[in-house]
Order: sequence, then structure tokens, then C-alpha cells
Amino acid sequence: MFDSLSDRLGGVFDRLKGRGSLNESDVRAAMREVRIALLEADVALPVAREFVDGVTEQAVGQQVLKSVTPGQQVVKIVNDALVAMLGANASELHVDGTPPNVVMMVGLQGSGKTTTTAKIAKRLTEKGRKKVLMASLDVNRPAAQEQLAVLGTQTDVATLPIVQGQQPTDIAKRALQAAKLQGFDVVMLDTAGRLHVDQQLMDEMKAVSDATIPEEILLVVDALTGQDAVNVAKSFTEQVPLTGTVLTRMDGDARGGAALSMRAVTGTPIKFVGVGEKLDALEEFHPERVAGRILG
Ligand code: GDP
Repeated sequence: MFDSLSDRLGGVFDRLKGRGSLNESDVRAAMREVRIALLEADVALPVAREFVDGVTEQAVGQQVLKSVTPGQQVVKIVNDALVAMLGANASELHVDGTPPNVVMMVGLQGSGKTTTTAKIAKRLTEKGRKKVLMASLDVNRPAAQEQLAVLGTQTDVATLPIVQGQQPTDIAKRALQAAKLQGFDVVMLDTAGRLHVDQQLMDEMKAVSDATIPEEILLVVDALTGQDAVNVAKSFTEQVPLTGTVLTRMDGDARGGAALSMRAVTGTPIKFVGVGEKLDALEEFHPERVAGRILG
């Protein structure tokens, strides 16, 4: 397993005992360890580099506190900077506009998009007291629309009746119309995933977004995919105005570095974290927890 950052830094700072302030060469030595810890936690290289540069600037010249070791002090500086970069406040969904508010879910196939759609719908229904309608726009995978209907039954959330042969934008428009007629507050659109980012997927997604003007466009990414998550996030950010991300499979042994990369690359907050297959295994994002996990 990995050494924790505190353990690593212990060694770096042993020779520093009794000094008054953190000097540049000590901090740089410590930051090499921080950088390795970030990379081992799957933070993307450019993100790790930028982060370390920022923290180095902050740490050099700080008075060494009497109550802690220099190593602990640097860990605290790094931890605080991570929390700040991850987004200090939990950020809720914006679904309180004039109904129906559209939440569009995007991401690669297998990222957990459909499950997350149902998890969020359940949460909005139970905690947010919203009337929610879910619709699957995935016409490529034969079972996709049925999968969402099954999840709808399990969560007690309405799903749009399936009409075979309809195209994604038409399904989306039909969902909006049904929502208006039947008084739904929120429409959740589960868009098609692909194994890889491709232009057809992107064009389809843009067309749906143009036709429905979503309040939220959430990118669902598998935390276990580490570095790949960054490339996925980059591609989606370039094509549609994302409002947030959801990191799934944080119940696994991912160190959580994808979270930092996602925040940096998309410039949008992480809104939820998936922590299991069950439909209530969805948590608000807690930056401190993820920071702790990244640092080991
Ligand atoms: P999609 O292709 O992106 O729509 O992916 P699905 O929603 O069908 O999910 C693929 C698999 O991942 C399913 O077996 C889900 O139960 C599972 N899954 C989704 N989210 C999580 C999560 O947060 N943790 C775990 N352990 N499994 C998840």
C-alpha cells in the first residue's frame, strides 16, 4: 500500500528540527513527495504540477509553529489547498426555476450514468419533494430505456413511456411536453453513452441540450478510471456547458485524485459522489473527505 503523506514528509523534515521558518529548499523537497502522492492518487500530471507550484509559493517563508512538526504543518497547508481547490462548499442542484427544470446526464457508457440518474431522481423526490420524470434518450442500446423504467419502478419515480423508433431530441421534447401537461417539477434526461468519446455522441448531446435548455448538465465519471477521467471531462467540457460532475464508484479503492482533476478541468463543482450500487448510495460531495483520501 501507499505511505501516507505525513509518513513521507516525516523523513524530509527530520533534519529541519529547530528551524524558525520553512525555507525554499525544504519546501521544494517536501513538494516532491506531495507531487508523488498526488500522482499515486491519480491526479492528472498538469493538475498536480499547477497545484504544487501554488502550494510551494504559499508555504515558503511560513513560520514553523511550535505545536506541530514542520511535516504536519506542510500536510495541513496541502490539505487546506486541496479542499479549496475541490470547492469548499457542497453545491446543490439548481432545480427551483419555473418548472419543468431539466437535468441532463452525460458520460461514457458504463460510468454509472443511468444508475446515477435514478439515484438523483430518488433524492429529489424524497428529500427535495419534487415531482420528477425520467426519460432515457439512449436509442442505441436496446435495453437502455427498459433499464431506466425498471429503476423508475424501484425508486417510485415516473418514467416517460417508451415509444420505439423515436430519436433522442424527439424523446426529450416529448418528455418536456409531458412534464408541462402533468405538472412535473424536474425532467431528468439520461443521454446515450458510448464506449469512447465520439463526434456522433457529442452532436446528439448538443442537439438535445439546444432543444431543452437544461438547468443542469451533469457529467458522470467513474472515479476508478483515474487519468482517463480527465480526457473524458476535457472532451465533454469543450462540447456542452457542464454545470457539475458526479464521481461514481467512490466506494471502491480509488484514491480520489480524479476529483481534483475533474474540478480543475471542467471548472465546475462535483455535485455528488456515488458510493455503491444501491439506489440510495449517493452522497453530497465532501471536499475534506476526498482531500484526506488523496493524501492517504
Ligand atoms: P451507464 O452505462 O453509464 O448508464 O452505467 P450503469 O448506470 O448501467 O452502471 C453500470 C454498473 O455500475 C452497474 O452495475 C451499477 O450498479 C454500477 N454502479 C453505478 N454507480 C456505482 C457506484 O457509485 N458504486 C458502485 N460500486 N457501482 C456503481
